[in-house]
Amino acid sequence: MVFAFARTVYFSVGHCLSPVENDGATGHIQRSALGGLRVDSQRGILEEVFSNFLKGSSVFRSREALRHDYVPESLPHREDHIRYLGEILAPALKGSLCSNTLIYGKTGTGKTAVMKFVLKRLAQKAQDLGSNVRVCFVNCRLAGTEYRVLSNLCAAIDMGIPFTGLAVGEVFDRFRDGLDSSNTLFLAALDEIDAIVKGRGDMLLYELTRINGNLRRSRVAILGVSNDLRFKEMLDPRVLSTLSEEEIVFRPYNADELQDILEERSTVAFQSGVLTEGATKLCAALAAAEHGDARRALDLLRVAGELAERVGDTQVSEDHVQLAQKRIEHDRILETLVSLPTHAKAVLLTVYLLAKFSISRSMTGDIYNLYSELCGEMGLAPLTQRRVGGLISELDIMGLLNSRVISLGRYGRTKRTSLGVPYKLVREGLGDDQRFRALMNHRPRYLAPSR
Ligand code: ADP
Ligand code: MG
Repeated sequence: MVFAFARTVYFSVGHCLSPVENDGATGHIQRSALGGLRVDSQRGILEEVFSNFLKGSSVFRSREALRHDYVPESLPHREDHIRYLGEILAPALKGSLCSNTLIYGKTGTGKTAVMKFVLKRLAQKAQDLGSNVRVCFVNCRLAGTEYRVLSNLCAAIDMGIPFTGLAVGEVFDRFRDGLDSSNTLFLAALDEIDAIVKGRGDMLLYELTRINGNLRRSRVAILGVSNDLRFKEMLDPRVLSTLSEEEIVFRPYNADELQDILEERSTVAFQSGVLTEGATKLCAALAAAEHGDARRALDLLRVAGELAERVGDTQVSEDHVQLAQKRIEHDRILETLVSLPTHAKAVLLTVYLLAKFSISRSMTGDIYNLYSELCGEMGLAPLTQRRVGGLISELDIMGLLNSRVISLGRYGRTKRTSLGVPYKLVREGLGDDQRFRALMNHRPRYLAPSR
């Protein structure tokens, strides 16, 4: 499971976000006396927030430079990768087909940045030389479906495709015919390619890797990028062998490398003298301990800057970075909790309730009994005990539960499970869903006899 950190802010249950109500029938907004006071005081809060922001001097020179999709002018410690990818793609400038290439490595190792960096310069060079090269970059996870990946490819050869309504095969045929008549060397850069393969299988990749056999005037080279190191195992061997004519692996950054990256970026992103050396070092060390993730390092830097700015501090220190780490971790867990499938949430709620009511029995059988009871309350059909065991293991891997196998002597072995994250966070994350909110104080009725 890949955790993506998004700037999502969650309000606890019961927060009143809307002091005004629409009367429905007339569409007019009605305001009670109390509501009126609240509106005024909340307007006051915002006035204060805005004026603090406007009069305070920002610690940032360019906040944009800390966005995930920002591609800097140089990419320290990726010179070899840039050179290698450049060498693979260079034949395109002379109209020759280049090798299909598979790029993989963990998140935040600079794959997307390096690919965009190289492709942008290649496209520029091709234009200067008048070579007929088209480059199309698609993020497959964001595109979501094969249909949308294909319609992005079509857009790159100026071919419009309706949003929906055609069969994927039909869109593919149109793309192939349109491409052939454009007499082009087409580079299809498919980022986060594992997302469509996981969801749909490798049909699209299969067709794309065979397309050159059916083209007379154009050629296609594929650049596939995956964050999932097991991606190769998901592919049909025929697709894999064609797709990975060349392979580039991006290994994680170490703390020193991350520090260089941060120092370079901070000269663009922050006002001079604002960022302390200790803050940069700590961001690099924390992100290196994670998995050498430059994205995490830059997130830490940005959130630390925002926290400093919010309280009017003129320097970003290690304390701000520590706070930023907590904030990011908090948001990340919440985001994971909110997006869990229903039955995984039910299992988590079960363990939460066992702890809340100080019920010391937390073996898989006990969890299953209470889980089934909760499913009954919610009108859900419970999964089998085996599936629930699987969910417990998955939640354990995600760090949301802690499962420990213990020996029962001659009665064999069993698992004891407890929460891996604070109660408050579980309440906040599950409370987002009405059905679970109603069960937060549910007192377990039935449990298996104690052992
Ligand atoms: P990946 O695609 O491997 O998940 P990205 O290319 O999106 O990683 O990189 C994550 C963030 O870190 C981006 O903001 C990117 O600009 C930055 N980054 C990664 N590697 C470097 C580098 N060598 N130098 C500067 N910034 C980098
Ligand atoms: Mg990427």
